[in-house]
Amino acid sequence: MSKPAGVWSYVRGFERLSFCDWPGRHTSILFLGGCNLRCPTCHNFQLAWDMHSLPALDPVRIKAFLRDRSGWLDGVTITGGEPTTVPGVGELLYEVRKSGLPVKLDTNGMRPEVVADLLQYRLADVFAVDVKGPFDKYPALTGGAVSALAAQRNLERIFALAELHPGAFYFRTTKVPSLTEADLDIARGYLPPEHTLTIQNYVPPRRMTEHAQPDHEERRPVGDVVY
Ligand code: SF4
Repeated sequence: MSKPAGVWSYVRGFERLSFCDWPGRHTSILFLGGCNLRCPTCHNFQLAWDMHSLPALDPVRIKAFLRDRSGWLDGVTITGGEPTTVPGVGELLYEVRKSGLPVKLDTNGMRPEVVADLLQYRLADVFAVDVKGPFDKYPALTGGAVSALAAQRNLERIFALAELHPGAFYFRTTKVPSLTEADLDIARGYLPPEHTLTIQNYVPPRRMTEHAQPDHEERRPVGDVVY
């Protein structure tokens, strides 16, 4: 395999088939490295903060897989890390779209301008947005990466997009131990009309000692890292 260039060099995981990522669909999942947050509960910390410790994958094989299996897949999820931080993510989505499969993009919502661009150019069909909790808890929930004001500003832009594009946004919160039921109600109250907040349970991930934290956010494993 020649070394992947450009946006494909960020692809550090590929799960060929998932039955639970996109409700009701059989999907493949691409995992992109890098993230703009430092959530102490991060489940994909290696991918998010140290993607170079994971091997790059062969884009030719991934594209061939999606093309050849498009008849029995129902979609492709692009996740991370945080895909909106990846330079040229739109180009990757464009290439994935050539498979003819619907695309879902997972995001923490902190780069609404990227989400707006991807939406405008119809490079993703659906956006699954993490609402981590009440705005005033964002500094603690994101390892100090986002202020309460920035979280509010960014998510309100996302909510405005959701109002304009009904059906294109899902919202979810992982109930990490520092969130109370009252916090979940506050987060639920942020959503635009006709949208519901999916609450995900958290499961402590395995983590190397040097990254040990008291609690962790449930995310999926990176999948078939070595393709
Ligand atoms: S939990 Fe998500 S948003 Fe937070 S650091 Fe990990 S990948 Fe980034």
